[in-house]
Amino acid sequence: MVYFVGAGPGAKDLITVRGLELIKSADIVIYAGSLVNPELLNDCREDCKIYNSAFMTLKEVIETMEEAEHKQQMTVRLHTGDPCLYGAIREQIDMLKERKIPYEICPGVSSFCGAAAALSAEYTLPGISQSVIITRMEGRTSVPEKESIEAFAAHQATMVIFLSAGMLLELQQRLLAGGYPEDTKAAIVYKATWPEEKVCFCKLKELAKTAEEENIKKTALIVIGEVLGDVYEYSRLYDECFTTEYRKGRMLDENQPD
Ligand code: SAH
Repeated sequence: MVYFVGAGPGAKDLITVRGLELIKSADIVIYAGSLVNPELLNDCREDCKIYNSAFMTLKEVIETMEEAEHKQQMTVRLHTGDPCLYGAIREQIDMLKERKIPYEICPGVSSFCGAAAALSAEYTLPGISQSVIITRMEGRTSVPEKESIEAFAAHQATMVIFLSAGMLLELQQRLLAGGYPEDTKAAIVYKATWPEEKVCFCKLKELAKTAEEENIKKTALIVIGEVLGDVYEYSRLYDECFTTEYRKGRMLDENQPD
C-alpha cells in the first residue's frame, strides 16, 4: 500500500493527525527533500527506510514503491503542502494503477493556506473578491497559453502565485499588463510557517524591488489583490438581519428595543 501524504507547509506540527500516524507506521518513506521539513522524519520507526526523492527519478521512486509492495510493506510518499498542487502525483498514481499497487491520498495544509495565516488574510472578502486564482509563471513546465498571467490578471481577483519567486520583474510586468492597477496590494511570503518565515507587504509596482531588497529568490508565494487592503463588506452570514438555516434574522425597526 502506498500513501501519498501532504506534509503541510513547513512547521512540523502542521501535518494532519492522519498523516503523522501514517509516517509513524511506515516501512518506507520517500520524501520531497527540497521542501518537506526533515524534522517530520524523526517520527519514523527506527527500521524505516527513508529516501529523499530530490535525488531520484520517477522510475526510481516507482521501483522503490514496487519493491516495498512485493514485501507487503507500507510506503509513505511525503509531498510538501497538499499533494494536489504542483505535486506530480498523477504520474505516480497512474504507474501504481498499471502495476495494481493500491494507494490512498492523505491531504495536507497547502502553503497558500500557510501564507494566508502569515498574512492574517481572508482571500475571499465580500465586495472585493470571491475567487482565488492559483497559478504559476512558466518555468521548465509550460503553462497553457489560455492561462497566461495577463489573462488571469484581467479578473482582478485574488491571485496566489507559486513557483515564481525567481521571476518577479517579469511577473510584475505581466500582472500590470493584464489589468491590475499598479497600486494593487501585494505580498511576498517566504517560507510560510517555518521559523525563518518572512512576510513583506508592498504594492504591485514594487513587487520585484521588494523581493530584491529582502533577498528572496525562492520558496515564496506571491499574493496579489485588494483583499490585502482595508476596504471590504461584512459577511451576510453573521449579519443580524440575515436569516440562515440555523438562525432567524431580526427585523431592524427603529421602534424596536435593542
Ligand atoms: N504542494 C505544495 C506546492 C509545491 S510547489 C503546496 O501545496 O504548497 C513548490 C512551491 O510552493 C514553491 O516554489 C513555493 O512557491 C511554494 N511553497 C511551498 N512551501 C512554501 C512555504 N512554506 N512558503 C511559501 N511558499 C511555499
